[in-house]
Amino acid sequence: MTRPRRDPRAERAALLVAPGEGTRPRLDRTVRRDGGRPRRDPRRERDGQRVPGVLRPRYDLSQVARPEAGPVHEAPRAVQAPAPTVVVLDAPAFLVLVVPDAAGGRLSPHDRQVLGAARVLAGREGGVALLAPWTCEGSGPAGADRLVRLDDPDGGDSRDYDPAGRAARVAAAIADLRPRHVLFPESPDGGDLARRVAVRLRQPLFSDVESVAAGALARPARGRRVEQRTAPGLLATLAPDAVAEYAGPPREAREIPIRVETPARAAPAILSATTIPADPATVPLGLASFVAAAGSGVTELATFREVVAALHATPGASRVLCDAGLMPRSSQVGASGTVLAATCYVALGISGAPQHLQGVAGCEHVVAVNTDLHAAMIERAGLAIVQDAQAVMPALLRLLAQDAGPTGDAP
Ligand SMILES: Cc1cc2nc3c(=O)[nH]c(=O)nc-3n(C[C@H](O)[C@H](O)[C@H](O)COP(=O)(O)OP(=O)(O)OC[C@H]3O[C@@H](n4cnc5c(N)ncnc54)[C@H](O)[C@@H]3O)c2cc1C
Repeated sequence: MTRPRRDPRAERAALLVAPGEGTRPRLDRTVRRDGGRPRRDPRRERDGQRVPGVLRPRYDLSQVARPEAGPVHEAPRAVQAPAPTVVVLDAPAFLVLVVPDAAGGRLSPHDRQVLGAARVLAGREGGVALLAPWTCEGSGPAGADRLVRLDDPDGGDSRDYDPAGRAARVAAAIADLRPRHVLFPESPDGGDLARRVAVRLRQPLFSDVESVAAGALARPARGRRVEQRTAPGLLATLAPDAVAEYAGPPREAREIPIRVETPARAAPAILSATTIPADPATVPLGLASFVAAAGSGVTELATFREVVAALHATPGASRVLCDAGLMPRSSQVGASGTVLAATCYVALGISGAPQHLQGVAGCEHVVAVNTDLHAAMIERAGLAIVQDAQAVMPALLRLLAQDAGPTGDAP
């Protein structure tokens, strides 16, 4: 084997500045030796991270190298996560139908758990179809292969309170689609609908299921002293927080049109039904869907209360404020306070201590206002405002007043 002979003297001379300028080692750090990676110049990198002309560091956290910063070390390349592949099931061997509550067109956590249970029953061969009167956002990621829009053929608003009519339409859809199983959430509306459908179809209903496997459903009975097991039948309802949500790759949620033949609508037994909204100021914290909470970064508590009222939110607080007697103990959010199930949580001047974050783990959207960019609450938040809460609150009130218009109605 032959290899070129090395000339150590020539190599050393190449590392010195040109003759005539004095023989000293070359300090040009950009020179690549042996075709390797460029040498770093820490001093130049530090200078590049300062605002030109001012001796303060540049607060640009984008990690992108500026041309004036010189050849700084290569910014770490953003690792592009591959887009999740959507699972497409062309011809499912059978269908498992899910009838969600989906109040306001949104799948609740309980609805997602029912979809998770349906996926267990469907296995690899079966398809999960979501049967709802309106398009539900995020049904594919929640595990639905098919989406069946169940419109009211009489043209009525499907959100009207007409439980008998809805049960008739669901029963007709079941007769049309011939699913192997149909699952409902065991909630006030879902449980009522399931029982009405069971009566219409003259089918047994296995209610309050707490454990789901491919070949068996189980529920507690006799005050939880015994467990009842059965092979999955046509109709079942699922207890809340018993089965995990679907966590696999997103499914297709392909819309399939059906037009169900329902019997002519009889005179409704319920003449009027009005939803009376609960007063957010007095609703228990654990049941509130929108909570705005203050921490020790909030000093203007009167303005905070105005913001809570303008947002129609339920007030919450960190333990520091409750310990100081500035907010009632019932408003404490966290491990030793109340664990929230809110859709949206606004945290004003709260650092996000682990005990506090335990209380907001189940919240879908978190908005944080904090002066500290590195606060744990900012990291948890989907939307963060790095600003003084005392300045943000009046600005928010002004915006809400503009949106409300002259009548003062909430936007
Ligand atoms: C056993 C145990 C149980 C606990 N249980 C709970 C619990 O259930 N709930 C709970 O909340 N805590 C609980 N704690 C306390 C918890 O550890 C924290 O001490 C507490 O949550 C901190 O509250 P804070 O975020 O309001 O205050 P701090 O930690 O003082 O944070 C204040 C935050 O406000 C920011 N800030 C300051 N000024 C401003 C401004 N002008 N504008 C905007 N932001 C500003 C700061 O940057 C900081 O992030 C528990 C502790 C223990 C030991």
